Amino acid sequence: ALTAKLGKPLSMCYNALLEPKPCEKRSYMKQWEGELGYQLTLAQWYEALSNTKGASKSLSLWEAYCKIAMRWYLVPHRLAKIYKGTSGLCWRCEGGAGTMLHMFWDCHALGAYWTQIQNLILNTTGLLVQLRPEHYLLHMIPGLSSHPHMVVLINILTVAKILLAQNWKSQTIPTMATLMERVDVISSYERMASRVQGQERKYAGKW
Ligand SMILES: [Zn+2]
Repeated sequence: ALTAKLGKPLSMCYNALLEPKPCEKRSYMKQWEGELGYQLTLAQWYEALSNTKGASKSLSLWEAYCKIAMRWYLVPHRLAKIYKGTSGLCWRCEGGAGTMLHMFWDCHALGAYWTQIQNLILNTTGLLVQLRPEHYLLHMIPGLSSHPHMVVLINILTVAKILLAQNWKSQTIPTMATLMERVDVISSYERMASRVQGQERKYAGKW
């Protein structure tokens, strides 16, 4: 019920893609940059959006990315502003201010998680992605769109955040086994979807 008034994430995602590229940054972009403490360019924002949209046939992955990028989550810091007397601290470390950046990245309880994901990406794609939040949370990785393993890389990054969101208000840190299992399921779905599309194309070609 709390999230209902924030709008449906999928329609937010589509609006973001359909709107003509604005010359001004959206408020979610400015809020991210405020938390990061540095600026990102509009080109970086739109490249990350379109790379992520293009990487997968699965709407749920795209939606998961949008929920992060557009700051859909009611993190403790935000809840505390809405409801006076509510703790704005992180429920994992119970010390840091529970901002979007903290809940998905900065929390020291997540340090090992992201390092494991960095290793997983290195082992699967050969790419060493520096541990920076705009790379892992927002998919702004230089040269990503021309990388041969862009799809699997984006799938890993997206699943990493889906698992954190699924452990909302829990101190459980997802394991790499769970993460790889989920990425495998998505990869076989993608393969199946491509096969079906390929067959449809072949079929259409015959006629
Ligand atoms: Zn924390």
